[in-house]
Amino acid sequence: MDAVTADGATTRELERMMAEFPDLPPEAIVKQDILRQGLAFSPDALRVASGYKPKDYFIFTFDLVPVAEMAKHAQFRAPEEIRMTGGPYDLRRTVVSTRVAPDSPYVVELREGKLALNCEGVFLAELEFPPIPGYYEHTLSSGKKISEIAPAIEWGYLVYLTVYRLCQYWGRDEECRFCDLNENFRQQRANGREYTAVKELDDIVEAMSLINKYDDVTRAYTVTGGSITKKLDGMREGEFYARFAEAIESRFAGRWIPKAVVQALPLDEVKMLFEAGYRIYHPNYEVWDADLFSWICPGKDRYVGRDEWVKRILDSADIFGPSNVIPNFVGGVEMAEPHGFTDIDKAIASTAEGLDFFMSHGVMPRFTTWCPEPTSNLGRQTGPSLEYFVKLLYAWRETFEKYSLPVPPGYGSPGPGNAEFSVSAFMDVIRTS
Ligand code: SF4
Repeated sequence: MDAVTADGATTRELERMMAEFPDLPPEAIVKQDILRQGLAFSPDALRVASGYKPKDYFIFTFDLVPVAEMAKHAQFRAPEEIRMTGGPYDLRRTVVSTRVAPDSPYVVELREGKLALNCEGVFLAELEFPPIPGYYEHTLSSGKKISEIAPAIEWGYLVYLTVYRLCQYWGRDEECRFCDLNENFRQQRANGREYTAVKELDDIVEAMSLINKYDDVTRAYTVTGGSITKKLDGMREGEFYARFAEAIESRFAGRWIPKAVVQALPLDEVKMLFEAGYRIYHPNYEVWDADLFSWICPGKDRYVGRDEWVKRILDSADIFGPSNVIPNFVGGVEMAEPHGFTDIDKAIASTAEGLDFFMSHGVMPRFTTWCPEPTSNLGRQTGPSLEYFVKLLYAWRETFEKYSLPVPPGYGSPGPGNAEFSVSAFMDVIRTS
């Protein structure tokens, strides 16, 4: 990450981007930069955070330092997200996911006793931390914490059910190079944290029953986990993940929007997911460029192949409906060293080609912000500049509007001041009027 700069470089770059892209909301520009550079916390701010919802490490670490190095940024106390408002840019309410980075120019501190976000020592916005969901006070009959089985993110909108916390793509020749899922599991266990590899269906159902009873904030749930290349408990990937929606929907049909984040599967397995009750399907394609796909996703390339992967995404649109197929790509990973693009405009041109391809079929690609997690194979890297992310937001919205696509379902509210989606600003840039 960029070193802390006393010379105002971060602020100057924010303002340069705001001036160059005046029709993008400034909130989206600030949000992408915070996601890119991470957040530091003063000890006082961390003390306040202990009364709010902490990071639940719901799938990847999304941190820029390993858990063991976070002595003063005690990982159990950093809040899941921040919500900023006001300040010199008069920001509308904007939710941003926390990525802990002790050297970030963005520092959460107390200002006159209130939470504030400073950038390079200068006040940037007033802050709130997310409340602890009311249902967190309940414990499952197995004794497990509900926050470990069914954490809420996106300011309480989404229940995130990572039901399988390992991936059968294993080791450097198979794991996606940006991913620390297998490593996160090892880190959490090594730090003595309660962390279950395969979640029990009974625990999930009980957790959702408690949420149904005690919560009125959650609106959607995601079922996800690592890929299953062979079998898990005797089941193929589609079968394994289908059971969870089946169990939830048979009891609480329509209570939440059910989403599955799994591989691009053969059609029979896609049908299983749909018949089980899922309504949104996320067969993530990670990166568009063919050579980079084979370098960055060696397991997917070898077991499925990029052409077949893309074909499966389009085929699944016949089952789910195109706008309910929302494949994710990892924004910025196409600029990863040493083989990624070095030129921002070439990187954007490649990614925009993928956006155009999918959106021309009515399919709705969206992105998360690449977080160069230190224990992933790509390791510590600076990552792309703010200019890259601003141009990416611009290209995404331009293509989205070119094909007059509907607001992506299952992502909460669109538009600046409304969006809950916290790991990129694509929902913040949607024009609502
Ligand atoms: S498929 Fe790739 S991104 Fe997904 S869990 Fe496995 S290694 Fe990680």
